[in-house]
Amino acid sequence: MALDRKHIRYARVVAGVVVLSGAVLLILRGHWAVGAVLGAGTLWALSRRRSVPVIVYHAVTPDASWLPWGANVAVRPEVFRAQMETLARTGWEVVPDDRLFGGQLDPRKRQLALHFDDAYHNVFVHARPCLERLGFPATVFASTDFIDPSQGVRGADTTRGYMNAEELRAMDGDGLFKIGCHGKDHVLGPVPGPMMARDPATWGPETAHLWYYMPGNKARWFEQAPPGITPIPDSQSVLVARLLTPQGQETEAQRSARVRADLSAARSLMSRLLGREVVDFCWPFDRVSDAALADARAVGFAHFTGGRQDNPGNRPVETVSRTHVHDHAAGFAPLWVELLVFRARVEIAAGNLLWSPISWAASARRRLSGQFPRFGRRI
Ligand SMILES: [Zn+2]
Repeated sequence: MALDRKHIRYARVVAGVVVLSGAVLLILRGHWAVGAVLGAGTLWALSRRRSVPVIVYHAVTPDASWLPWGANVAVRPEVFRAQMETLARTGWEVVPDDRLFGGQLDPRKRQLALHFDDAYHNVFVHARPCLERLGFPATVFASTDFIDPSQGVRGADTTRGYMNAEELRAMDGDGLFKIGCHGKDHVLGPVPGPMMARDPATWGPETAHLWYYMPGNKARWFEQAPPGITPIPDSQSVLVARLLTPQGQETEAQRSARVRADLSAARSLMSRLLGREVVDFCWPFDRVSDAALADARAVGFAHFTGGRQDNPGNRPVETVSRTHVHDHAAGFAPLWVELLVFRARVEIAAGNLLWSPISWAASARRRLSGQFPRFGRRI
């Protein structure tokens, strides 16, 4: 199995610090030329871009309080706009992810792709105009059970919930954006394991577990009372897990048959809705297994998220790795700090590890503030 890019980056930083220390020692002992060449070579190696970043957003909204995971995935519209303008100002070219899957890029050229998961309506309202103004393409991933049932394109008065079919079609049809499939129900389903107590009066961190008990369209879940179930069994992404059913735990063959049926239905619905074949698939919670990948391929998907390696850019790939962006990256801080950390995260995603100390300091400051507890699972 290939090593996770996070581990490779860690090893590169450790090796870089060791060699840089050696270079400093050499200089201190009077070996100026050797030390300088070694130091410069190490800095060059640490800064070399080797991966095309795919930056992932979720909600772009001034008020994410309706989402239990809002503090971890939402970005304020003014911060989002400033981040996009920072990309433009610092020479980044935002490209359609089709060129990344097709191997038509160069990781040394400051090219990146943008993704938006879950197809929140606030992305339609707050992110789309900014992206259109800058000419930045993006892919938006929608789960079919979370397509809002309303009719017509809605404006900024709708602050909660998900895009409807017409809004998805409008984005997909305008030439700049592409809609991909985020599965059918974005659910965590029950698996054998410990039972978890929960507050039956609130949705809380177990929201995606509770969706399992809501068959059909779930786009307005936040307007309904949560299922009063407690305790609930341990859970896992329904696409990769052999679920616990009243008849016992699924066999692998049953899991595969269920997943193929769900993914096939989701792909057909999205393809019908958009009037074209949908081949882009984004794994909910970033959870994927070799068996689930085989299921998704079998029903016709061809482009996937959930990678763990660098995105080479200059050769075709089936799966891309992504970097998640959230607001308050360094805790509560001025906008210039937010943008500095954003630049660091993008550069690190590209493989330029000289920005690592800024990212580490930001994460530590955010954690130490105590204001942003980690939400258990990525949505
Ligand atoms: Zn999602």
